[in-house]
Amino acid sequence: MLLGILKEPADKRVVLPPGLLPALPSATVLVEENAGLQASFSDAEYQEKGAQITSRQEILTKASCLVSIHPLPEAELAQLAAGTAVISLYKPFARPETLDQLKHYPCHFFSLDMMPRITIAQDKDVLSSMASVAGYRAVLEAAMLLPRYMPMLTTAAGSIPPAKVLILGAGVAGLQAIATARRLGAVVEAFDTRLAAREEVQSLGARFVEVEGARDDKAAGGYAVEQTEEYKERQRALIAEKVEKSDIVITTAQLRGKPAPQLISREMVERMKPGSVIIDLAASTGGNCALSENQQLTEHQGVYILGNSELEARMPQHASQLFGKNVANYLKVLYDKEGQLQLDMENPLIKGPLIVSEGKVLYAAPVPKPATT
Ligand code: NAD
Repeated sequence: MLLGILKEPADKRVVLPPGLLPALPSATVLVEENAGLQASFSDAEYQEKGAQITSRQEILTKASCLVSIHPLPEAELAQLAAGTAVISLYKPFARPETLDQLKHYPCHFFSLDMMPRITIAQDKDVLSSMASVAGYRAVLEAAMLLPRYMPMLTTAAGSIPPAKVLILGAGVAGLQAIATARRLGAVVEAFDTRLAAREEVQSLGARFVEVEGARDDKAAGGYAVEQTEEYKERQRALIAEKVEKSDIVITTAQLRGKPAPQLISREMVERMKPGSVIIDLAASTGGNCALSENQQLTEHQGVYILGNSELEARMPQHASQLFGKNVANYLKVLYDKEGQLQLDMENPLIKGPLIVSEGKVLYAAPVPKPATT
């Protein structure tokens, strides 16, 4: 295998840090100049681990396996050799038009976001690792924007009550946000439509906000499903009550392939105390808050709203390390010890992520189920 590691044009992270190179299956590694610099990994460190530093052009034309966090621009795909394995995050459920583009190139395209949610896939799941970093970072961003303390304090100058933090969506990002907010001393409540989240929330020392009658669907592969109108109405009323009393609200609720559910309306924001903060991690798919703008920090009647679904990119060193570990684990599935690509279509870890193979679209969009009881 001739593995190519490219510099991410608009992201400080790097797909594979140097420390992980010795763990790869037999590979000669080509690294684009300064690929890891913004994540604090130098070219010299890559060279120490046996990699060659070279130009992007050379990597594109020579590599038999290319890994990147963001997909390559289409103009570069024409330069790849036939049979190249290209591994990235294509999000075919959200951007099906990508499939039409990729099928024109005689390569194997693997989308890491199509990793199945099964136990053996956990150490290869970049969505989980990045959600965990984002959940942690969301609390730090909120704490910095908040004009108040997070923990309870008793001082000679008076007592400070702890901040109240509400987490909407207790998946990977939400659970990490709960743990981080608790470590900073906040009082934390969390809500999720998946009842399985209740125990996890409670085990982290937070209170689970329960709305009865949630629709859970085991067939959704671990992802949340859309809820009925009746449920949504009950949920709106309870969330409105909780949002009004919170100093910080962190929202992480996503529906795969669909716009994010709107959980916080303009009126709810307007009832929050000035100085309160909302961090919307679902901003890139429409947002959980009606007023959030993707990649923007805005202010509405004294309430700060940060819309950002890529907060992991603000912690490039550790985010790269975790992302890279997932990729290194995945390369061990795709390649044998001699560095030969193994396309075993019986293996769910290959069948799921391989979305286009030498001109053939293999990705099949899931058939949506109606949101009725
Ligand atoms: P996600 O990013 O798709 O969604 C975030 C959370 O928002 C989820 O918990 C979801 O239930 C919740 N949500 C959706 N709609 C909502 C609404 N209207 N109101 C409130 N909450 C809403 O999910 P995720 O964080 O990637 O993970 C979800 C689950 O899948 C977790 O239990 C996680 O442990 C599991 N998981 C398993 C694997 C694996 O086994 N390989 C990998 C990743 C995640």
